[in-house]
Amino acid sequence: MQKDNSWEKYTEEEVRRCDEVCKGYMDFLSSAKTERECVERITSDIEKAGYRDLDQIIAAGESLSPGDKVYRINMGKAIILFNIGEEPIENGMNILGAHIDSPRLDVKQNPLYEDGGFAYLDTHYYGGIKKYQWVTMPLALHGVVIRPDGSKVNITIGEKESDPVFFVSDLLPHLAQEQMTKKATEVITGEALDIIIGNRPLKEDKDDDKKDKEKEKDPAGPVKKAIIAILEKEYGIGEEDFVSAELEVVPAGAAREAGLDRSMILSYGQDDRVCAYTSYQAMLEVPEVKRTACCILVDKEEIGSVGATGMESRFFENTVSELLDRMGCYSELALRRCLSASTMLSSDVSSGYDPTYAASFDKKNVSVLGGGMVLNKFTGARGKSGSNDANAEYLAHLRGIFEKENINFQTAELGRVDLGGGGTIAYILALYGMNVIDSGVAVLSMHAPWEATSKADVYETMRGYEAFLKHAERIG
Ligand code: MN
Ligand code: MN
Repeated sequence: MQKDNSWEKYTEEEVRRCDEVCKGYMDFLSSAKTERECVERITSDIEKAGYRDLDQIIAAGESLSPGDKVYRINMGKAIILFNIGEEPIENGMNILGAHIDSPRLDVKQNPLYEDGGFAYLDTHYYGGIKKYQWVTMPLALHGVVIRPDGSKVNITIGEKESDPVFFVSDLLPHLAQEQMTKKATEVITGEALDIIIGNRPLKEDKDDDKKDKEKEKDPAGPVKKAIIAILEKEYGIGEEDFVSAELEVVPAGAAREAGLDRSMILSYGQDDRVCAYTSYQAMLEVPEVKRTACCILVDKEEIGSVGATGMESRFFENTVSELLDRMGCYSELALRRCLSASTMLSSDVSSGYDPTYAASFDKKNVSVLGGGMVLNKFTGARGKSGSNDANAEYLAHLRGIFEKENINFQTAELGRVDLGGGGTIAYILALYGMNVIDSGVAVLSMHAPWEATSKADVYETMRGYEAFLKHAERIG
């Protein structure tokens, strides 16, 4: 099957609309770089569109009915949206799902140390990264510090022009003869990914006897001491507060248009914020639905969907139970019926065809940038292992919807058979017996500090989600 290029069929008006959607997307990428920041940004956007907090509705004992729009947040790191439709909810929902965590370097719980005149923060990388890509680039620090009394300090350093940035050093080529012979997996080790955060020692009064005695008790070096002083003065936190912090080191800087033709977007964290953004935007674009629309945006996909905020947690099921309860129709059977009758687009990025690494792909079965929304019937590795293999009947239903709404879509596998593979959240939702397919957007340089997408694919995917929310029905 020849893949259509979206740009070739666009009218000027469609190009304008595509640019408008991507402008919003780039603003989202630049301002929401962590799962917590995504949840905050999404909550603010959807509240403007009339979405209300389900937990407040439960606390107030209010009931819900068709037309109501609600959301529920899980520990500040995952969020689920519902737009209640006219049809009985036992007939199932149309569900969009994506993840809002991205590969990065996480600051350890006892991170601050001094060596050779530099103050460092020790990190442990999160998700699948090529470690050598993270050295010598401007890095920003995002996250929260929670004090024992529960008070929270939000940290974002390195995004504003006037902010300082951080970096991981690398060996100069002149002295790298040994390093350059190492395998790419070893050339930069995990423990070498500590970020440099200071080089200026605290100026101390050398003649002061009392201070000398204190120095003996506290072995912290002068540069580390200076950093601690800054943390206390500017953020009101002490070294011990790192214990209850979640600080993420990400590439500094905003999303950019890429290419002389401005056809692409280069940004950190497009896996999987490209699907998350287009999913919740589609929810906002379809204010009235026949079938209840749902959008699940989860954390921890990059490390296996584990934990209370990952897809494997019961949070989704518990939340649907609460929703049914507020609608006055909760029973264990009604919940099971609703979930098994649902249809889902489980979205994540797909590996876009890269001509420089052509041998890694099957050219007929790979997504291309500009080729439209991607449908992956299956993912997995070594004989589809670990994959959610979507039903042909479901694929046929989706084809019909996309053809009707003139959505440009393509089918793809991640890469050449037996070369590798990856997982998504699709198989977890499939456990309920619902129809689920992997879908999403093609990305070049996936999991690199800066990933590339096609603007046209962002636009087509958002349109595809809209069409799905409007037209998808219970299968069989
Ligand atoms: Mn990923
Ligand atoms: Mn992903």
